[in-house]
Amino acid sequence: MGDTIFGKIIRREIPADIVYEDDDVLAFRDLNPQAPVHVLFIPKQPIATLNDATPEDAALLGKVLLAAADYARQEGFAQDGYRTVINCNTHGGQTVYHLHVHLLAGRRLSWPPG
Ligand code: 5GP
Repeated sequence: MGDTIFGKIIRREIPADIVYEDDDVLAFRDLNPQAPVHVLFIPKQPIATLNDATPEDAALLGKVLLAAADYARQEGFAQDGYRTVINCNTHGGQTVYHLHVHLLAGRRLSWPPG
C-alpha cells in the first residue's frame, strides 16, 4: 500500500498528540474530534483497510483493540462506556487508508450512525 499521513505520524515526520505507543501499536488524538475523547489506534505495520487484513494480522488487530480497551480503563471512562469504530472504504467513510480504530468517549453517543 502507499504511504499515508499516519505513516508520517509513526515516523514522527509530522506532529501528533500521541497518547500511547508500544512495539506494534500507536495511538494519537484525532485532529477533528467528534467527541470529548477521540483517539485513533493504529497498527504500526500498515494495513490499508479491514478488507486487506489476513489471518496473519489477527494478533496485530487484537493488540490494537486491546490497547484501546486498556486506554479506556486507564483514563477512567471504561465503565461509562465508549465506542470503537473501523471505517472501511467509501461507504464506511474511510478517508485515511491505514487501518485505524476510532475510540470515542466522553458523552452519550447516538445510535444508529447517520
Ligand atoms: P477515517 O475517516 O479514515 O475513518 O478517519 C480518519 C481520521 O483521521 C479522521 O477522523 C481525521 O480527522 C483524522 N485525521 C486526518 N488527518 C489527520 C492528521 O494529520 N492528524 C490526526 N491526528 N488526525 C488526522
